[in-house]
Amino acid sequence: MGKQVCIICGKTLNNGIMIYGKGICPCCEKRLINMDRDTDFYEYYKECIRKNIAELVIREEEINCQSYRF
Ligand SMILES: [Zn+2]
Repeated sequence: MGKQVCIICGKTLNNGIMIYGKGICPCCEKRLINMDRDTDFYEYYKECIRKNIAELVIREEEINCQSYRF
């Protein structure tokens, strides 16, 4: 397995929160929590998270569909 990197800033992770095996470093996590929700930056963060997680969820669904095929 490769090194885990923050999906927002790309920094190598030693700890931090994990969502579907994707990481967010404590620095970005803190920024996200304290962030004003009306800023473009917040939208950017959300987009990063959504894109990274959506990809994984879609892949999992495809695998499930294949196994139910017959
Ligand atoms: Zn980060």
